[in-house]
Amino acid sequence: MTLLPSCREVQTQLTEYAEGTLPLPRRIGIWIHLFFCHVCAGFLRGLRALPGLAKRALAPPEAAPEEASRALAEIQTRLKRQQS
Ligand SMILES: [Zn+2]
Repeated sequence: MTLLPSCREVQTQLTEYAEGTLPLPRRIGIWIHLFFCHVCAGFLRGLRALPGLAKRALAPPEAAPEEASRALAEIQTRLKRQQS
């Protein structure tokens, strides 16, 4: 038994890792692996781009949607000013 999971192990458990359903020792092992392994880290980035997970991550903030859209309008106005 090794301390760190192999790339194969990491990649088969990445979905659960991204969803946070893995037991803590597993999560730590995978987290450390991802820190050193760019291949598996790339896999995780791909996973997070999937619709289900992305939807959760990109869900609009519940607090102060009006303020958010006002801030967005302000940014757009400034950008237009810079362009002209
Ligand atoms: Zn790996």
